[in-house]
Amino acid sequence: MNIDLHCHSNVSDGALAPREVALRAARRGVDVWALTDHDQVAGLPEARTAALEAGMRFVAGVEISVTWRGSTLHIVGLRIDPGNPTLAAGLAKVRGGRRERAKRMAEELKASGIDGAYEGALRHADNPDMVGRTHFARFLAEIGVVADTKGAFRRFLVPGKPGYVPHEWADLADAVAWICAAGGQAVLAHPGRYHLSAGAMDSLLQEFREAGGEAIEVVTGSHSPDQYAHFAALARHHGYAASRGSDFHGPDEGAEFGTLPPLDPDLHPVWRDWAL
Ligand code: AMP
Ligand code: MN
Ligand code: MN
Ligand code: MN
Repeated sequence: MNIDLHCHSNVSDGALAPREVALRAARRGVDVWALTDHDQVAGLPEARTAALEAGMRFVAGVEISVTWRGSTLHIVGLRIDPGNPTLAAGLAKVRGGRRERAKRMAEELKASGIDGAYEGALRHADNPDMVGRTHFARFLAEIGVVADTKGAFRRFLVPGKPGYVPHEWADLADAVAWICAAGGQAVLAHPGRYHLSAGAMDSLLQEFREAGGEAIEVVTGSHSPDQYAHFAALARHHGYAASRGSDFHGPDEGAEFGTLPPLDPDLHPVWRDWAL
């Protein structure tokens, strides 16, 4: 069974509408599918309908932005109740401030000689409340200052580069608590992306568990095969369940449905107790 528990629609920074994402996942062989937009659950009703029509099992998800010891982390919530008021209030708080941040990013880019970045990014953001770095990356690629969105991140949009503006997201413990309040399971997204020392990763995995975290992503579009093995070993060592998801954002934007290997059979999958 192909289980893919991480991807995005244009409700956050994906390129396709929830229905289109569902149809693409189904066409590429996904059987059990979660939509996990950043800090937003508004795409879930459309996604659920399309997923069931296409013959997939649907998992309601979200990916919450967190600031931990000065680093940005992402926590995926799976099997959440999207209507839970604690979760809804938490997500609304995390979303607030994105427009102000985007204006500051545009000012930074202007100082680097790039005009009109705020308006340009907004044109790529189907949901203006969720304007973020991916929309700036699409704008920068569109005007040709970089060859593609990857190049836009490398040159402008990551810490230390001229268009990067630090931002304070949710607390780790709060994000996990909102997911648990909504009846969901909290999963540490793409741990290989955080550039943490072994000691810091250890602390994170301990803190995440104390907060109520259950699983870490092992097989994700953000990891290399070496990282699949590394995070499988960490999951075993720390007694975490393992998750798997493409982190699809759009055609030709990196990860794609149906291309990732399965989890190692000795890992405990996050879906172990689901009636599938
Ligand atoms: P934001 O929440 O606005 O800070 O944007 C974060 C999003 O940017 C992530 O969810 C990814 O979709 C994308 N992203 C972050 N870093 C990179 C990178 N190095 N290359 C490509 N996309 C990235
Ligand atoms: Mn994203
Ligand atoms: Mn992420
Ligand atoms: Mn993601």
